[in-house]
Amino acid sequence: MADGSRGELVRQVQEALEAQGVMLETEVWRGLEVYDRRLVERNREVNLTAVTDAEGVYWKHFYDSLVVLGLPEVPQAGSLVDVGTGAGFPGLVLALARPDFSVSLLDALRKRVWFLEEVCGELGLTRVRVVHGRAEEYGRRPGWRESFDIATARAVAEMSVLAELLLPFVRVGGVAVAWKGPDVKEELEGARGAIRRLGGEVEAVHMYELPHGMGGRSVVIVRKISATPKEYPRRPGVPEKRPLT
Ligand code: SAM
Repeated sequence: MADGSRGELVRQVQEALEAQGVMLETEVWRGLEVYDRRLVERNREVNLTAVTDAEGVYWKHFYDSLVVLGLPEVPQAGSLVDVGTGAGFPGLVLALARPDFSVSLLDALRKRVWFLEEVCGELGLTRVRVVHGRAEEYGRRPGWRESFDIATARAVAEMSVLAELLLPFVRVGGVAVAWKGPDVKEELEGARGAIRRLGGEVEAVHMYELPHGMGGRSVVIVRKISATPKEYPRRPGVPEKRPLT
């Protein structure tokens, strides 16, 4: 993409974010540009994302990750774990945007973790920890369990499975934030029992549209109101095989 049209794209995304109350320093946009270039380049060798055109990356990955910073339930500082981060969405984008977040990026796929280590090194993001592993294991570890202000996940699992993967990481009083499609209502109804059992309570569901017909999205905010019972998360693979009801 020519520099002029990239500049115009960045301006549009910036404007849309500002309309949602999300302001970013110039430095952040520079970091996102480096991230975009490295993502597209490495995606030729490793399967990182299906979205590689600049419009797609800026709206579907960057804007979509950042828009939550305008939500009243999402703190602007603290510790954040992004579960099933893949190529770093939303966790690495949020780390770039907010220097006061200390961020852990967790993924079960080693090749994606290598990519994230490379980008974090290039961007000098020393407050980002990149870890290869499964949420079911890390959610039980001291130093990880009930240790985060925010646990995020996008496109990882359906809501009741996600509750079991995310809520063990969240300290009581913190939030789990799940990115979902526009038809989240039914999925959420089916997950209410699981969320309650794991110590959470649905606090808000925010709906929004990506521009240029890219589709509707939702963000579900679950507040942690009591400790997660010791037996959760269950062994790797079990939450998905036998979702809690
Ligand atoms: N969150 C990224 C995004 O929105 O682009 C990646 C989504 S990708 C479809 C799902 C990712 O979740 C994969 O990289 C996969 O390895 C990871 N994942 C799935 N289950 C996981 C688990 N139990 N623990 C850790 N990572 C997991």
